[in-house]
Amino acid sequence: MGRIVSIGECMGELSETDMPGTLNMSFAGDTLNTAFYLRHSLGPDWEIDYVSAVGNDGLSDRLLDFLISQGIGTTHVRRLADKTIGLYYITLKDGERSFTYWRNDSAAKRLASDPAALARALDGADVAYWSGITLAILPNQDRLALIEALSHFAGRGGTVVFDPNLRPRLWDNPDTMRGWIHRAAAVSDLCLPSFEDEATWFGDSDPAATARRYQAEGARRVIVKNGADDITVAVNNSGLFKFPTPPVERVVDTTAAGDSFNAGYLAAELDGAALADAVAAGAELAGRVIGARGALVAEAVRRP
Ligand code: ADP
Repeated sequence: MGRIVSIGECMGELSETDMPGTLNMSFAGDTLNTAFYLRHSLGPDWEIDYVSAVGNDGLSDRLLDFLISQGIGTTHVRRLADKTIGLYYITLKDGERSFTYWRNDSAAKRLASDPAALARALDGADVAYWSGITLAILPNQDRLALIEALSHFAGRGGTVVFDPNLRPRLWDNPDTMRGWIHRAAAVSDLCLPSFEDEATWFGDSDPAATARRYQAEGARRVIVKNGADDITVAVNNSGLFKFPTPPVERVVDTTAAGDSFNAGYLAAELDGAALADAVAAGAELAGRVIGARGALVAEAVRRP
């Protein structure tokens, strides 16, 4: 029993449909995806709260309605006048998706601008989940404020869980991204990187190198995801473990693979599962999520 806060940006997603002139509207975001899978994986004795900022407008209302409909708490989503949520539009051409974003002035960029509100959101929580995307969208002083708040939270016994989710397009340049990602890792108990991104942006030769690098920055535990390949786990100083990823019969859409893995793993760990079983739970959930279209696939969750 306890409370998890997931901190980040949720955007509106507009996608073209088969019917000309008709769009589909939904909501998406890495930290929302993980909150959604945590909510569906954990029992009602766990509270899942989203921590973000939205506007006072109708579109922001719709997002809050959606979170509430999913059982995700919105008490710590701040409402800001004259702002609204970020949006993106998906165009489909010959089966390929391309994205257009309107997020430069989104309310979520202010999610850490009120340190007192941030402290209230974290107060009494057991786990704080955040990502490199959460950090990327913030102004510099708010990046520091969020890191400081999480450091305080960890100092009081809270567990900080971080997915680096490297998105160089959201950062001024790759060096800035690398610097902040390491500062984030330093306050996080558990880091959940994906090897392909890490190899590209940090030059890691293998998942073990990724795990060791995050540990060297201060993360106590690291779980390196690697698509269909083995999952590499480093725990404290007890060396590296490798766990197989169960094969997926048909990969339909890999959106939210990493986000759902994180939730499946974390939910199992919080339910008391042993390391190998928690990793398997993460991989199995991710495997079912990528077997269906879309980021939020409630049917992919199997409660024990
Ligand atoms: P991300 O989505 O963050 O890039 P990965 O591609 O490493 O992350 O995938 C996250 C998890 O999703 C993997 O650890 C694995 O459990 C599952 N997964 C991803 N792709 C596959 C695949 N082709 N076959 C089986 N499992 C997969």
